[in-house]
Amino acid sequence: MRTAVIGAGIIGLATATELDRRGHDVVAIDPEPANGASRAAAGMLAAAAEAAWGQDDLLPLARASAALYPAFVATLETAGGRDVGYRMSGTLAVGADAADRAALFELGELQSAHGVPVQRLTGSAARDLEPALGPAVTSAVLAAEDHSIDPRRVTAALREILGERLREERVCHVVRRDGRVTGIRLTTGEEIDADVVIAAAGLGIAGIDGLPALPLRPVWGDILRLRVPVALRPLLTRTVRAQVRGRPVYVVPRDDGTVVLGASVREGGVAGVQAGSVLALLRDAETVLPGISECEIVEMLARPRPATPDALPLLGTVEPGLVISTGYDRHGVLLAPLAARLGADLAEGLPIDPVTAAAVDPLRFSSDVRTRRAFADLTPPAVAELAGAGQKGR
Ligand SMILES: Cc1cc2nc3c(=O)[nH]c(=O)nc-3n(C[C@H](O)[C@H](O)[C@H](O)COP(=O)(O)OP(=O)(O)OC[C@H]3O[C@@H](n4cnc5c(N)ncnc54)[C@H](O)[C@@H]3O)c2cc1C
Repeated sequence: MRTAVIGAGIIGLATATELDRRGHDVVAIDPEPANGASRAAAGMLAAAAEAAWGQDDLLPLARASAALYPAFVATLETAGGRDVGYRMSGTLAVGADAADRAALFELGELQSAHGVPVQRLTGSAARDLEPALGPAVTSAVLAAEDHSIDPRRVTAALREILGERLREERVCHVVRRDGRVTGIRLTTGEEIDADVVIAAAGLGIAGIDGLPALPLRPVWGDILRLRVPVALRPLLTRTVRAQVRGRPVYVVPRDDGTVVLGASVREGGVAGVQAGSVLALLRDAETVLPGISECEIVEMLARPRPATPDALPLLGTVEPGLVISTGYDRHGVLLAPLAARLGADLAEGLPIDPVTAAAVDPLRFSSDVRTRRAFADLTPPAVAELAGAGQKGR
């Protein structure tokens, strides 16, 4: 089967690599591979710490994808030929004042309710684990299953695996013939035929003719990379997430002596790095981790996350020959192995788990009955049934 993947962020790259592993003839197209949201990502694989009230459908997906990580990493490290910085040291969520402490323990309740193993700690027990935490830390929750990875090394390994099957071009059009998608057109005018097209261009999907309108919006994140002075290393041995006066901040350690400090969540403001965001991140991080002020800032970056109204991805077959895979919002790195597996299953016409299919149906927000009916008529019976079930449940 010939597949064309539009977009080579972590989702497009992982999906193209999975199709390649299954023996398909795959090409991935992107004018700037791995330079969108995936370039900014901190790499937290934080299924438990990202749990939120009202997002019950996300946690099972996140945990399922986290469980796929060891095998995903093994493939990247053997076929991609590099260490991808996978750290299985867990995550410590810490709080400073009484309100932060209450929010932290409320999250702990939610995690326990979902059967996620978490452990409550006092401030001093947290400092025993991470001595660089300051006296302002009064409480903590240890999520032993929330690991981290270096997304830049992941995308570099995926690019290595794909080699010349990744082309640095821009897609402008999805081509149809006789009622089905048959390929893509590049801005150069070249057409590439494909049995299946997978649209994984993040927010860029809105700029490609012939794709359905999707409820995506940019949610900006500012993020910093800092080098820890040798005398202070290791500043941390695991990811620390904090609530400081209600604002979230996190610090993710890397093996090379740097840490990643992030990230703002803003729906407007400048398209580059926003000064106020950087100020808040540094101030909040210093409250819980005083040593951060001794570090050297080596990079500041801002990127928009492809966000959806319910924080769940848009993943599914929307018509014969066309699979959508975007909207991974704050969780694209965590969800990449699952997205790759499901995207490849959909490309092969295999039915996917009914609950998952309904939760991530790309057309779940569409009020246009004709769109939904066309979708039901055109997709394989199992998928159509699932999509119908998903619609009824909403
Ligand atoms: C500051 C920040 C921190 C984050 N931290 C984490 C984290 O710790 N853990 C986590 O799981 N997630 C995190 N995320 C979220 C994660 O980065 C995203 O969910 C993920 O990168 C989305 O991947 P993607 O491949 O869908 O999109 P992108 O990485 O944006 O890739 C889309 C690609 O499509 C290409 N494209 C666009 N238009 C076209 C076109 N017309 N033709 C061809 N190609 C096109 C672009 O060039 C781009 O390379 C973070 C995000 C941000 C911004």
